[in-house]
Amino acid sequence: MNTNQKHIRILLIIILIISACQTKDNTIQTDQSLHSNTQKINALIQAMTLEEKVGQMTQLTLSVFYKNGTLQERLLKEYIIKYNIGSLLNIPSSSAISIDQWHELINKISNFTQETHLKIPILYGIDAIHGATYTENSTLFPHNIGLAASRNSELAYTIAKITAKEVRASGIRWNFDPVLGVGRQPLWSRFEETYGEDPLLVTEFGIQAIKGYEGDNLKSNINVASCMKHFLGYSVSASGKDRTPAYISDMMLQDIYIPPFKKAVESGASTIMINSGSINGTPVHINKYLLTDLLKNEWGFEGLIVTDWLDIQYLYTQHNVAKDTKEAVKLAVNAGIDMSMVPFDLSFYNDLIELVNEGEVSMDRIDDAVSRILKVKFDLGLFDNPYPEKEAIANFGLLEYKTTALKSAQETITLLKNDTVHKKAILPLSKNAKLLIAGPGANSLATLHGSWSYTWEGKADDKYPSSTVTIREAIENKVGKEKVTCISPNTFKEVSSSEIAQLGKNLKNIDYIILCLGENSYAESNGNINDLTLSRDQIKLAKAAIATQKPVILVLTQGRPRIIEDIASEIPGIILAYRPGSKGANAIADVLFGDYNPNGKLPFTYPKHTGNIMTYDAPVRNQPFYKPQWAFGYGLSYTTFKYSDLVLNTDTLTSLDTLNIRLKVTNNGEMNGQIAIDLFVRDIVALVIPPMKKLRKFKKIYLEIGESKIIEFKLNKDDLSFVNSELETVTEEGEFEILIGDKKVRFYYKEKKEVD
Ligand code: BGC
Repeated sequence: MNTNQKHIRILLIIILIISACQTKDNTIQTDQSLHSNTQKINALIQAMTLEEKVGQMTQLTLSVFYKNGTLQERLLKEYIIKYNIGSLLNIPSSSAISIDQWHELINKISNFTQETHLKIPILYGIDAIHGATYTENSTLFPHNIGLAASRNSELAYTIAKITAKEVRASGIRWNFDPVLGVGRQPLWSRFEETYGEDPLLVTEFGIQAIKGYEGDNLKSNINVASCMKHFLGYSVSASGKDRTPAYISDMMLQDIYIPPFKKAVESGASTIMINSGSINGTPVHINKYLLTDLLKNEWGFEGLIVTDWLDIQYLYTQHNVAKDTKEAVKLAVNAGIDMSMVPFDLSFYNDLIELVNEGEVSMDRIDDAVSRILKVKFDLGLFDNPYPEKEAIANFGLLEYKTTALKSAQETITLLKNDTVHKKAILPLSKNAKLLIAGPGANSLATLHGSWSYTWEGKADDKYPSSTVTIREAIENKVGKEKVTCISPNTFKEVSSSEIAQLGKNLKNIDYIILCLGENSYAESNGNINDLTLSRDQIKLAKAAIATQKPVILVLTQGRPRIIEDIASEIPGIILAYRPGSKGANAIADVLFGDYNPNGKLPFTYPKHTGNIMTYDAPVRNQPFYKPQWAFGYGLSYTTFKYSDLVLNTDTLTSLDTLNIRLKVTNNGEMNGQIAIDLFVRDIVALVIPPMKKLRKFKKIYLEIGESKIIEFKLNKDDLSFVNSELETVTEEGEFEILIGDKKVRFYYKEKKEVD
């Protein structure tokens, strides 16, 4: 430190001490002359030692400070005061804790930070992925994969807003969400956390989630900082196994995987987390081009970049791109990492101090990282008040959150099959019918919620609020216990042969069999599978149910499309509920018995065969082979809708104009209902083989029986673009086709210069 820096540091400490003494609540008040956050950050940077700076870049998990379930306060205090760690994450035990416990914990942490001489607050981060995962009695909503089926991105906003309120009420201001990876690898265990296979859906829903989390002002006690994740390419590993390498062409990166992140950065997201895996042989954590050149320099991202769990160490222990952890730290920080989710020890801290002293990492790089971290802390108002805000508790657990949970679960549910049985569609069922319920999903809360649900994996049924009901309970509540016979186990487990045998014995007076199949919950690598086909034991149970000759309705609760080709053709009614959350069972029962008219549309291609995994926007040469069980965008209703009068305002769109598309939609069936309308565009001829079609717009409307509405879409040049071999986003002149349901219309696109 030179003499000048020393003087500034002493001056700043004096100012901080004086102003801190003047405040009643003992929070930091920086000098009035330091107006903007930038000035305050610069002053702090000047005042900080190298150790303090590196401490800020260090994030540790809370379990480091617990021994046999007890917080080691002295240890925590030491790490905060001596090492100035900048961030903490996670929970004290394996499951959610109460708001009071959160407040007690964050109060303690904040008290310790007040004892440090610069009083820099801790930024506490948590995974509140579909609701406030780690706060007891929070409301949990459908996972993203279902939300995308709703085609109602306002839901993503509302859910994120509620989540932000419940997280902030818990005293936490940083949420590691949303996932902006495009889910094009259905084997992947985190498929449920994605908004499906289409980049437009991911972008629109992701941006709404970010808006819901962050609002206009991060200081407000209803907002939290969001974290876009996992940048980049995590969702499409070649093996389908979690955290394994991805191989993605530059064109695909530009066309499919980059847009959601780029748009989210433009929308002002505060932080970003990096993909644990690699793209084309380079771990993303050391990819300077992606982290610094593209994200920070080209896109102007001003927020902080955090690693994922243990990922700097993995550069050495798993990726083999560094000879030891110190080299790993050097590569990652020089590539642009600002904060390391270490998360267990001080290895990052010690290595980075050495690296700076040895000149291997520049002080400028450190200052850039620390400025970004401090900026988020200032933006969140943590310097004004690092303590949990008592008034925010009023925003926790409101009744209206349950209404949103129900509405969103209802809107996600996708009716995949509704064949005629006894001369009428099998669904909805009569409330007088006698039912046999079977299958591991019937009595399981875990299968309804999936990952990040009061525990990391969401498997612990006893950790769910007592008000949450299973599918069996929801059905019994609706039609009366006396009409229901249930032979399902008490929790999600493999189907036993005795259960299969029981099926045949319980058929007396039974009208229908409701078969609840799918997946138990799992998170991250624990959800790795070797076969996308639904488990053999469940297929066996389904075949036994089909063999009874009773009409079967299949209810699927699962995070990814498990293949059911062996049974699908013989089951007349199939409902896909994804991971519908706290009110999921109620929503399923509503759909089964016609109290809600389903309108979800698949946000992915549901494969029919394990050897034929393809997305709907595959190049046209794949068209003959696109034979899924159900196509992207598929989803039935209890009513019928008719499309007519698809008209354009012109048959030639120029680069300076907008194409107006009008379509008449009529509910000509027998139930009121909503319909989601996907608008696809097909580029007839392009220099890069065009996709079969591409989703360009979507909309959802409500129509009463007999009602018609004219809906309008607008397209312009950008909506017709693709990424060419020079990696430029271009729109070529020529013919295009608009496809909406069974209607299509062509138009011509023409370049036009301003002067023409
Ligand atoms: C996951 C992240 C998560 C982090 C912190 C990691 O294992 O990949 O998505 O935010 O843990 O819990």
